[in-house]
Formats: sequence, C-alpha cells, structure tokens
Amino acid sequence: MALRFEILGRFNRARAAKLVLPHYVCQAPLFMPVGTQGTIKGLTTSQLEEIGCQIILGNTYHLALRPTSELIDELGGLHKFMNWPRALLTDSGGFQMVSLLHLADITEKGVTFQSPVDGKPMLLTPEESIEIQNRIGADIIMALDDVVRTTITGPRIEEAMYRTLRWIDRCIKAHKRPNEQNLFGIVQGGLDPVLSYAIGGLAGGESKDSFWRVVAQCTAALPEDKPRYVMGVGYPLDIVVCSALGADMYDSVYPTRTARFGTALIPEGVLKLKHHAMAEDTRPIDPSCACMVCKTYTRAYIHCFVTKDAMGSQLVSYHNLYYMMKVHFSVIFNTEANLSRDLHTSIIEGSFPEFVCNFLRKMFPKGDVPEWVCNAMEVAGIDISSCCDTKFHSALEFPHILGRDDFNQLIINQEAKFCRDHLFITRTQKDEKHS
Ligand SMILES: [Zn+2]
Repeated sequence: MALRFEILGRFNRARAAKLVLPHYVCQAPLFMPVGTQGTIKGLTTSQLEEIGCQIILGNTYHLALRPTSELIDELGGLHKFMNWPRALLTDSGGFQMVSLLHLADITEKGVTFQSPVDGKPMLLTPEESIEIQNRIGADIIMALDDVVRTTITGPRIEEAMYRTLRWIDRCIKAHKRPNEQNLFGIVQGGLDPVLSYAIGGLAGGESKDSFWRVVAQCTAALPEDKPRYVMGVGYPLDIVVCSALGADMYDSVYPTRTARFGTALIPEGVLKLKHHAMAEDTRPIDPSCACMVCKTYTRAYIHCFVTKDAMGSQLVSYHNLYYMMKVHFSVIFNTEANLSRDLHTSIIEGSFPEFVCNFLRKMFPKGDVPEWVCNAMEVAGIDISSCCDTKFHSALEFPHILGRDDFNQLIINQEAKFCRDHLFITRTQKDEKHS
C-alpha cells in the first residue's frame, strides 16, 4: 500500500497524524512548499532537508514542458533527478493550463490548450495527466479536475463538479502504479469570485468568513481516516484555523514568493526587510528563531540587498520555510522549548488551545483577532477568549455548520461553493474503489 494514515492524537476536530508515504514518514498537519520545476527557488535539497521539509510539490505542467516527463522517467524519476529523498506530490497540470494559458478550453475529453512551445492545439485528458504523473513518480498524484475560471458563476459550476467526478473515475482507471503512488481525488464545486480575492490576500471579513465555513463543512463531511488537503492555502493564520477545523495538509508559494519581495514571516506577522527602519537594525529577522539565517545575519545586512541580489531571496526563503515548518512540526527543533511549540505536538499533548492562543497573542497583541477567526474557533471548540477582545466585533454570529447529510444534500443541490484554490482532497481514490 502506498499510503498509511494514522491519527496519533486529536483535539476536538483537530488531528495530529502520521502519513506514511513510499519515500517518507510525514507528521501532519504539514505544509508543502511548491517547487515548480523541481526546485524551490534559491534553495538546495540539502537545505530543504535541514529546514525540515517533508513533502515538496512539483508542477506537472512545468515539468512536462521541461525537462519532460519522458526524460524524468528515463533518468529514474523525479526523486532521483532532483536528488530529493523525501516525499513528492505532483498536481494534475490542469490548474496551470487554465490559469496560465488564455486559450485553454475544457470539454468532456479534457483540457485543450495551445502549446507554449509551438502554438499547436494540445489536449490534456485525465488519462494523460495520470500517465505523465506516473512517469514523474511522486508519492502523491492528483486527479485532473475541471477547473472553473474565476469569472464564471451559475450552471458552469454544476457542470464542473459533475465532470470532476466523472474524470476521477477515468483517473483511477488510468493509474498504473497504485502500489507506489497515491491518487488523491478533488472535491470540485466551482468557485466563488469573492473567495478568490481571499487567496490574493485582499480578503475582507466576509470572504474569509465564507472560506472557513467551506473548510468546516468539508472536514465535517470527508472521511475521518484519510488525509484532508486544502490546496493553495499558505498564510500561517489560515493554516492554524484550518487545522483546528480538521484539515491536515497545505501547500502554497506564499512563503517563498513573499520572500523574493523581501518579506519575512515572524510570529508577529510579517517583517518588510526593505523598509528603511531595517537599515540600522542589528537584530536577526526573528530573535526567537533558531534558523541558520537568524543565527548568522542581521536585518541591517539583509536590508542592503534583499530584493537586489539572489542571496537576499535565498536567505529570506530559508527563514520563511523554517518558520512554516516550525509552526507545524518542530520535533527537530526541540532546543526551542515552548509550552506548545507546534501544531502537531500540541494536538497530541492536549495543549492545542494554548498553542492557538500563543500564536494569536503574538499576531494580535491588542486582542483584535479577526471575527472570522473567533467564529471558526468557536466551531472548532477552541476557547480563545483569553487572547481575543470581543469589543472589536459586532455581535458574535453563530454559524450554521452542516453535517454529513446536509453536505451530501448540498452537493445534490449544487449549492455548495468551493473555491478552486481551496479544494479539498478526500482520500486515495483507489482505496475508495476497493473498499
Ligand atoms: Zn530564522
């Protein structure tokens, strides 16, 4: 079997789990950095191991264009090609096509797009996506889903949802390496254009509110004994909230992309290293961080070249990924003794509420925790009253959270709104088929 998922501890809806994959035993909740072309920009694979990365995400679309999946296969698979001994995940390639290529068209057959190499029309079918991913050889591969454009609403959402279900069956059939690779299915129900702004960081209170409710609904309805992956979520606060609601896996380009713009992630939020206030600041990026960068360099030094020299983005990316890993799983960071040092351990040790409160207290020292976070924590059964000043909120609204039956009803009624970048991966589809 290519995947074993063991829940090691729970706190209400939150889970700490062990995810046994062919190349690595992972601790969840976990964050996966995105290595578009088999690289995390600016970092070596040994640095990624040092930082504590467990799974790296590779983009099938980019890998298939260059160096091509045939060549990767010939050279022994992506693990060997990039010299990464731990786990890998590849996406289906469909999302890149729809988001990067204006001429992508989706039919029952698959996604038709214009080749960026020679301009000829090309077709990516569910079968072909799986075949390419089988050649690349990642531990986890994704089903091709019918991606809905951000501008579309109405019946197209319904079509996408049903088509995605039909395509999952085709993916399962096409999957040739079920003992070495896990095929994850995708819950696709369309896209709420308001939510898509939330991804870009432009979220107003309302869109964040829709976001966490969708997560809460999905985690309530999805099987307990399979990993739940919220795609494209990468803000530390969102990850803490989603984990409280019962999600296990996340990926985002955010920590490395923001690093290239000179922004560091710290417990208080973000630190803009380009800001002139950094010019004479002799502290490390985060005085409480034990990473190589924080032990070695000052803010003043990094400020000098942060967005001008490749070294700047390398150093900040290193720190940002270290920070993400520390939030999730810090057994390797034992030296930093904290009461509740990370998501994984605090869930197991029963100190999850303390972890959440410590996290929120640092990020919102005035107690101005956003209302959507308070509402989500209410549903998650996490008492955050000690760090949350409700004077910042209007009357606390108790959200209606749906159970499994309601959820199924919603799917039938096509009323569920799911955001493309907040998709929920249910489980390994082959298991579902056989069980
Ligand atoms: Zn650091």
